[in-house]
Amino acid sequence: MNFTQEFHRPPLFLAGAILVAFSIIALGQDGKSGNHAAHAWVGARIIDGTGRPAIENATLLIRDGRVEAVGKHVKIPAGAERADGTGKTIIPGLVNAHGHVNDPAQLGVYLRDGVTTVLSLGGDKEFALRDQVAKSPAGSFPHLFVAGPIQDSTAIPGSVAVKTPEEGRKNVDELAGSKPTYIKVRVDDFLGARQKMSPEIYQAVIDEAHKLGLRTAAHVVLLEDAKGLLRAGVDYIAHSVRDHEVDEEFIALMKKRHAFYCPTLTREVAVFTYSETPSFFSDPFFLKEADPAEIAKMQDPKRQETVRNDKGAQWYKEHLPIAMHNLKILSDAGIPIAMGTDSGGGPGRFQGYFEHLELEYETKAGLTPMQVLVSATSGAARAINISQQAGTLEKGKWADFVVLSANPLEDIRNTRKIESVWIGGVRVPGKAEKQ
Ligand SMILES: [Zn+2]
Repeated sequence: MNFTQEFHRPPLFLAGAILVAFSIIALGQDGKSGNHAAHAWVGARIIDGTGRPAIENATLLIRDGRVEAVGKHVKIPAGAERADGTGKTIIPGLVNAHGHVNDPAQLGVYLRDGVTTVLSLGGDKEFALRDQVAKSPAGSFPHLFVAGPIQDSTAIPGSVAVKTPEEGRKNVDELAGSKPTYIKVRVDDFLGARQKMSPEIYQAVIDEAHKLGLRTAAHVVLLEDAKGLLRAGVDYIAHSVRDHEVDEEFIALMKKRHAFYCPTLTREVAVFTYSETPSFFSDPFFLKEADPAEIAKMQDPKRQETVRNDKGAQWYKEHLPIAMHNLKILSDAGIPIAMGTDSGGGPGRFQGYFEHLELEYETKAGLTPMQVLVSATSGAARAINISQQAGTLEKGKWADFVVLSANPLEDIRNTRKIESVWIGGVRVPGKAEKQ
């Protein structure tokens, strides 16, 4: 593991964040002037992301883009800006540990929907995007972590074809220079449609990555492949096991590797749900950010008919219950769960909205709203290896948080009742507001 390289970008980003934070706070939320570096939310319910019970009637004190204090008895410094949190719930900014980002506008959607950190797990333009984010003013983009091109058996978009172990090692050596958060492999024959990466190739990729201090993530579908990857040393299972119920051996391998598990349940949903027009297409929270062209594409009757008759779509539909069952088994077994959606990674996987839908599916799988929130905050932050900075509202962490008008512990869908989103202590402008 290499902690230092994980942190090269965020401090640069934060330097900008702090400058802008000062200027925004100087104006004050209500337009009053005053030069306050500190900013306090008072009287709110705070869910800190650790899994500890919510703190009622609490204060969240922010200074210089970071959390200064959280709790019932926080002393607010003289001159600090105050915001009334009565009746509101504050949660950490959501962390998506498996998304895909192809252009900067998509990052804005994630952020406005409360996703303040994204791990883009494979793509062609990720490194350039990450560098652009690092140079951008605070409040415009979520924190972005990336994997770069996926090591695969076939060069589909976002991936490179690896034909030999030597080639795999060479690819990892080259990628290491760009400091990816993960090296990603895909081990999937797409239900028999193409070649699957062989164990000797993924073993070489994983070994080389570890030699260079890099962690590895795997796209995987089947239980036996997931076990093979864990035996080969993989650090992150980035999709649900979908063919069989996970067994004791799988759980033992996950524990031995201290591996993270990312369910991406809404990835399955996106494969089959557009056989008709889904009910969420009339949800104002969805419509606020969803791309109208993508909506139209998913509503095309011809496309819907194709989905209805597609065997692959049926397979994923039939296997979603297994994925959900496995999530519950693994959560009960104490395996760390990292919320992820695969949003942006295929048609109809709507960034921003799908993270909230994923939370709902995690509760449908049997997790409590608190467990779900942990997976989407500290759990996902741990998977990205940024838990020192993100994922919880604790002293010294990035001041990334979402103010909600209703309590998500009563109904997880209340994460959609967003009043404001803050990143590095800076309020994220709404879509219609001047950036
Ligand atoms: Zn993906």
